[in-house]
Amino acid sequence: MSKSTLQQTAPRVGIISLGCPKALVDSERIITKLRSEGYDLVGTYEESDVVVVNTCGFLDSAKAESLDAIGEAVKENGKVIVTGCMGGDENAIRDVHPAVLSVTGPQQYEAVVNAVHDVVPPLHDPFVDLVPEEGLHLTPRHYAYLKISEGCHNRCTFCIIPSIRGDLVSRPVNEVLYEAERLVRAGVQELLVISQDTSAYGRDIKYAESKWHDQSVAARMVDMCEAMGSLGAWVRLHYVYPYPHVDNVIPLMADGKILPYLDIPFQHASPDVLKAMRRPAHSEKTLDRLAGWRRDCPDLTIRSTFIVGFPGETEEDFELLLDWLDEAQIDRVGCFKYEAVDGAEANALPGAVDEDEKSDRWERIMDLQREISERRLATKVGATMDVIIDELDSEGAIGRTKGDAPDVDGSVFLDGDFDVEPGDIVQVKITEADEFDLWAERAQ
Ligand code: SF4
Repeated sequence: MSKSTLQQTAPRVGIISLGCPKALVDSERIITKLRSEGYDLVGTYEESDVVVVNTCGFLDSAKAESLDAIGEAVKENGKVIVTGCMGGDENAIRDVHPAVLSVTGPQQYEAVVNAVHDVVPPLHDPFVDLVPEEGLHLTPRHYAYLKISEGCHNRCTFCIIPSIRGDLVSRPVNEVLYEAERLVRAGVQELLVISQDTSAYGRDIKYAESKWHDQSVAARMVDMCEAMGSLGAWVRLHYVYPYPHVDNVIPLMADGKILPYLDIPFQHASPDVLKAMRRPAHSEKTLDRLAGWRRDCPDLTIRSTFIVGFPGETEEDFELLLDWLDEAQIDRVGCFKYEAVDGAEANALPGAVDEDEKSDRWERIMDLQREISERRLATKVGATMDVIIDELDSEGAIGRTKGDAPDVDGSVFLDGDFDVEPGDIVQVKITEADEFDLWAERAQ
C-alpha cells in the first residue's frame, strides 16, 4: 500500500474538550496518543469516524453543558465516547444518552484510547506517525499548559474534585522539567503551570529529588520554579493555594526568573465563611502577606476567584469580603455565584442564600472589582513593558502583558501594528487603559 493510500484510509477522530485547563491537558494526552497511532484529528462531525467528548462535571451548569455536547455529538455523528470529570458518574450520562459507546472518568487515557480502537482500529505506519516530540497541543503554538500533579488532598466543602480525581499525585520533577524543556525547544514561549493545588506540589512524594541533566532538583514548588525559570520562557503559576511557603517564590518573581503573577483562589474573606468552606481562614494575615509580596515585587499581578452566596453567608460576611477586596486591591477577579454540586459537603450546610440575593452580591462585587481594575490599569499608562503577541486581526496585533494569563485576563491592543507574529515578545509603551484592557504602541 502506498503512503498516500495509507493516509487516505487513516481513521479519523474528532474531540470536544470542555472544562478547565486540566481537562484540556487530558485531551492533549489522548490526541497525542491517538495521533501517534496514525489517527487523523478532524474538526467536524461529518469527517469523524468517532467523536470523543471530554466532559466537565464540576458544577451543575457544566454538567448540563457536557450533556448538551454529548447529545449534539450523538445526533450529528452517532459514535460517541465520553470521558472526563463527568464520566465518573456513568449513570448520569447513560440515563440521558444511552447510545454513547463508552464512558470513562478523568485521566483514564488508556481506556479512552482502547474505546477508540474498538470503534475504529488504529492504522500504524511510520509514514503517518507524525507526533512531534513535545506531543500535540490544543493551545496556540506559543504557549502550553504544563500539568505538574493530579488530584488534591484538600477537602474544600464546595468541591468534589478530590472524589473525582483522587488525592494528590505529583509527577517527578525531572519528568516535569524535561517536558517543559521539550515544549520550549518546540517554540513555546510561555509555560502555564497547572494542577489542582500548585503549592502542594511534591508533598505526597516527600519532595523527592530527581536528576535533571547534571543537577538534582527537589519536587518542591520553589525549586521547580527556579529550574523551569532557567529555560528562558515565561513561567506562569496557576491555582496556588495560599500556604505560607508561597512567600518563597516571590523573590524568583522579583528577579525576573518566573512571571510576577500569582493566581490564588482566595474564595472569600470572612473567617466564618472560609471555615465553612474549609479554607485557610486568616484574611488579615493574608492582607499583610499581600502587602509584603507587593513590597518585595512591585510588578506583581494577583488574580483570584471568589464565591458569593455560599450557604450561611450573611450580609455582614459579604460586606467584609467587599472591604477586604478594597484593601487587598486584587488585580484580576473571577466571581462565581455558589451552586450546589452533587456530592459536595456544602449542600448540607444551613443558611442557603436566595438566588436573587446571590445575583445582587455578584453584581456588587463585580462593580467594585471594575473600579479596582480600572484604577490599577490606569497606573500603567506611560509605562514600558513586554507584551507577548497572541494573534493578529484586521485592526492590528493583540497581546498580553506578564500580568495577563490567556483566556481569563486582559489584552493589550497594538492597533495598526501588523509587523509581528504570534509568540513574538515585543516592548511596548502603554497609551490607554480601560477597566480590563490596555492599548499600546511599540516602544522606540
Ligand atoms: S483545593 Fe481546589 S481542587 Fe482541592 S478541594 Fe479545594 S477547591 Fe477542590
